[in-house]
Amino acid sequence: MRVCIIGDGISSLTLAKALINENIYVDIFTTKKNNLLNKSRTIGISKSNIEYFNSNILNIDKITWKIKNIEIFSENLKNEKILNFRSNDNQLFSILRNYQLYEMLKKDLSKNKFFKKKYLNFNSSLIKNYEIVIITDYSHIFTKKFFSKKIIKKYKGLAYTTIVKHKKIPNITATQIFTKNGPLAFLPISQNETSIVYSFGDNQNVQKENVENLIKNYNFKYKINKFPSVNSFELQSISLRSYYQGKFLAFGDLLHRIHPLAGQGFNMTIRDIKILLDIIKKKNSLGLSLDSSVNKEFEKMLKHKNLIFSNGIDVIHEFFNFERKTKNTFLSKTIQYLGKNQNINNIFTKVADKGITL
Ligand SMILES: Cc1cc2nc3c(=O)[nH]c(=O)nc-3n(C[C@H](O)[C@H](O)[C@H](O)COP(=O)(O)OP(=O)(O)OC[C@H]3O[C@@H](n4cnc5c(N)ncnc54)[C@H](O)[C@@H]3O)c2cc1C
Repeated sequence: MRVCIIGDGISSLTLAKALINENIYVDIFTTKKNNLLNKSRTIGISKSNIEYFNSNILNIDKITWKIKNIEIFSENLKNEKILNFRSNDNQLFSILRNYQLYEMLKKDLSKNKFFKKKYLNFNSSLIKNYEIVIITDYSHIFTKKFFSKKIIKKYKGLAYTTIVKHKKIPNITATQIFTKNGPLAFLPISQNETSIVYSFGDNQNVQKENVENLIKNYNFKYKINKFPSVNSFELQSISLRSYYQGKFLAFGDLLHRIHPLAGQGFNMTIRDIKILLDIIKKKNSLGLSLDSSVNKEFEKMLKHKNLIFSNGIDVIHEFFNFERKTKNTFLSKTIQYLGKNQNINNIFTKVADKGITL
């Protein structure tokens, strides 16, 4: 089988590596020679996804930092802790830097005989060479042709990211504070470095220079030595109405993009990869042909789950947004109360780890 992937981001390379592990030929098409990923971006990957990644895609343990606790606070409740997740064994989440993941995958793929990267614009004359054509690139002409129908929500704001250097501490606890401006996450990446994601919505007019001071106001844990400049990313959530069109399948953030407050965007893509591979392996074992029926089955198995999950993240966002605007504390107090119940706490942890498992 030969698969083509249009685009050269972390979703493309991760999927390419997962496919070649199944002895499937993969050609990546990109017109950009160098994908220089932003160095202030990090990703939190859930425990079950890291385990899947390490054993089925590539062992990335050496670029990950393990998180054993997650604490969630609300400014509305005078910075009281509303939820606390702990792991009795070794990790809840692992944090890594996007560009390191990209470089590691790129290096590994370059040595593989099943893989080729072509610096070409994919066009109609090439379609016949592939059983499936997977698109991750938002600006490709086929994206505009096949995947223009989508549900979009613009949060009218930006997520600011940076990685601060600070005094050494064990740094195994991630913290999220629902501040009056929006969610602020401190995500440890080593004993002396922590990645920060601060999301502002609702047209809040925040100057980049003020973000540093706002973060410092909420930082009660780190003795920061160096505060590099912050980068910003537009906040929006997108779900495509159709996952596929014949041979063409949309993938990665092109298929679904969500608010970063729960750190789940790439986690959804890892879950998608697992399902896609399961479909391919099942068809292979039954001697069935690998064609657009793979895409049809993929959409059937995932679209509803991904939509429920994306909407769930949006509900969390709206929920805290409402509280912020009304200065009501009832909702945070309810979560705080529910989170103290171990069974409910376990359900929250399971959904964050494995997504919707209906
Ligand atoms: C602030 C923030 C924090 C996040 N935190 C988490 C988290 O903790 N956990 C999690 O699971 N997810 C998180 N996400 C989501 C995660 O970052 C995305 O799901 C993931 O990066 C998407 O990768 P992608 O390859 O699908 O898309 P993209 O990286 O957007 O790339 C899509 C396509 O665009 C093209 N492209 C993009 N940039 C370039 C370039 N510079 N040069 C050439 N081509 C380019 C490529 O063709 C590529 O295939 C976060 C997102 C944001 C914005």
